[in-house]
Amino acid sequence: MKLAIDIIATAQAMNARGLSTGTAGNVSARTQSGMLITPSGMDYTQLTPDDIVAMDFDTSWFATNGLRPSSEWRFHLDILRTRPDVSAIVHTHSPYASALSAHGRGIGPFHYMVAVAGGHDIRCAPYATFGSQELSNHALAALEGRSACLLAHHGVIATGPDLGSALALAVEVEELARQYLAARVLGEVPELTREQMDEVIDKMSKVGYGSSPEMNPLPPLPPHTNLLHLDS
Ligand code: 13P
Ligand code: ZN
Repeated sequence: MKLAIDIIATAQAMNARGLSTGTAGNVSARTQSGMLITPSGMDYTQLTPDDIVAMDFDTSWFATNGLRPSSEWRFHLDILRTRPDVSAIVHTHSPYASALSAHGRGIGPFHYMVAVAGGHDIRCAPYATFGSQELSNHALAALEGRSACLLAHHGVIATGPDLGSALALAVEVEELARQYLAARVLGEVPELTREQMDEVIDKMSKVGYGSSPEMNPLPPLPPHTNLLHLDS
């Protein structure tokens, strides 16, 4: 149940931080047999733990309140299936990153913090219809060796070993997209070299610098009235 509460807090923090509005975006976290995921099309401020959907790796699912899993359950489940380093996923339609994704462009090494996603760039997966297996396949490829990617004409996927890290990375990706678009005002943006980025990646891996729950702690949990039933 604690995990369901943390998922709700993460989804609400996503909205509070301007990463998504309305019912856009979704959040999941690993369980022993699969994942817990936000329901489809629900206002995050209204969510209770009974609304969170439990889905197994065999795609069977259950929600105490009978809600359907997020329409993006395929990429959430596929990422958790194939990436043992990932235990939480935050998907947003954050405005600057989504604007960049509309051009089908990822984020190159214009700033050293791009390395917090694990490599020299943050890729943009080609467009595919929301909720489709094709989108999931594109996302998995764009996430290879990375913990975040953009989705063309759509938004962002940020992953992490826990919900706080995934949310912090989603915040960071949006900030980098904002900085990049601001820098574009003066024309093509100069990029760091491969060697410079390698040095940053190496240093970050040693000192643990970058997106972490310590840098971006989750806000306090809102009071819930109905906190029963979901295991984990
Ligand atoms: P859900 O409400 O089904 O999670 O969909 C939101 C979304 O972002 C689809 O890409
Ligand atoms: Zn979406």
